Amino acid sequence: MAGLDPKNWDEMRALGHQMLDDMFDNLEHVAEGPVWQPMPDAVRQGFAKQPLPQTGTALPDLYGQFTQSVLPYAVGNRHPRFMGWVHGGGTVQGMLAEMLAAGLNANLGGRDHAPVEVERMVIRWAATMLGFPETATGVLVTGSSLANFIAVLTASRAVKKGLTLRAEGLHGRKLVGYAAQTAHGCLARAFDMAGLGTDALRRVPVDAAFKMDMAALRTQVDADLAAGLEPFLVVGTAGTVDTGSVDPLPELAAFAQAYGLWFHVDGAFGALARLSSTYAPLVAGLELADSIALDFHKWAQTPYDAGCVLVREEGKQAATFAQSLAYLSREDRGTAAGAPWFCDLGPDLSRGFRALKVWFTLAGFGVEGLGSVVDGCCRVARHLAGRVEAHPDLEMLAPVTLNIVCFRVSVGADNLDALNGELVKDMQESGVAVPSATVVQGKRAVRVAVVNHRTTEQDMDIMLESLLALAAKRTNLDVSALADPLPA
Ligand SMILES: *Cc1c(COP(=O)(O)O)cnc(C)c1O
Repeated sequence: MAGLDPKNWDEMRALGHQMLDDMFDNLEHVAEGPVWQPMPDAVRQGFAKQPLPQTGTALPDLYGQFTQSVLPYAVGNRHPRFMGWVHGGGTVQGMLAEMLAAGLNANLGGRDHAPVEVERMVIRWAATMLGFPETATGVLVTGSSLANFIAVLTASRAVKKGLTLRAEGLHGRKLVGYAAQTAHGCLARAFDMAGLGTDALRRVPVDAAFKMDMAALRTQVDADLAAGLEPFLVVGTAGTVDTGSVDPLPELAAFAQAYGLWFHVDGAFGALARLSSTYAPLVAGLELADSIALDFHKWAQTPYDAGCVLVREEGKQAATFAQSLAYLSREDRGTAAGAPWFCDLGPDLSRGFRALKVWFTLAGFGVEGLGSVVDGCCRVARHLAGRVEAHPDLEMLAPVTLNIVCFRVSVGADNLDALNGELVKDMQESGVAVPSATVVQGKRAVRVAVVNHRTTEQDMDIMLESLLALAAKRTNLDVSALADPLPA
């Protein structure tokens, strides 16, 4: 066989089977190892100093390097006690889909082939899932950062003179948009990348429940209008990244309508709450948006990366991104038929087959299966909140809306910010659990985001016991252990 194919297919096949078996073993026992461990310097240097190879290395050697130097030092998000950031845990189904997709090596920028139909199907499913019309358009992207960026661009092109904006740029026009102070940092970056400038994203204060303050929003928009600016967009977040709060989406929809603004919802993880009958009411109003950003790689557990943007009204996304270049011209039949293509709906031309793992996830578990993951994560978060509230040395720092708990050790040091910051690092290095640190209401918080389908109440108990033990060590204070199991 010429080219880069194996010289000995049987040997390569055996090695492939070995890799698959090894990864199955690894996943089956993922909870037994440390969540995360610091990388030894030699491992880091092994990468940092490795020169560009001039000749080929046999795959068994490369696989050995992966097993020794990569696998043990991953961030740990597959482990049930990874709770630091909003990361999904992945699934076997998703892993296998990734292998199939890589084997097929499809390019989903466009043209007429089945993988494109798979993506159209999952986009239609996503629309149905979120209460959008089936005619909504959308595209799979790396993540919500890009999905939010696409939505900001689409919104800015959808306003008056949107098409001249594409050709001529802003030309001195002052478009401004609005999001709560608790909105994800990628929105300011989207304004930056869109050439609008980060100042054009007005940060609206939040109330005591960390939801956008509607009166403050109105005041800001009125002031901007009076100053001759062009408000075009208001963003609501369904599930803020720090505390899991949800902006008042129905009020935002009505406000956007009254002021003629585009209403975008950043539902990176929170949009998935629609799949749980218990938590769907918390994100009601999502379905009224003009566009939604969401991730399949977070609460839906699809392996990285898999984000998605949906736009309610057909044609808006293509009006923002489609180009007519002769070499891409679409045919009525043959391989180059099948327009519109996904390259018309976003900035990417060459695109991988993310849709396969999303299909295997949505079809493999169904709305019920994924809804029960949402339910389970929220239940585990509430269990933790109950334990924190019942403990004299711990303090809640934000209400628990969905799956995120922010709290701190509230005794044992003059500087509680420093103490809690150090405790989070101690815990991460212990390998027992990986929470993260954030700042809530000006206080350093231990932040626990329950996003992994493997996490249970017991994992929270193990994490808390360990945190209290670490706190006792640092403060030489008599920090009480956990009380007996909470009444159900
Ligand atoms: C994670 C997250 C983002 C960014 O999404 P990526 O997939 O990491 O690009 C944006 N907004 C919210 C609310 C998030 O939780």
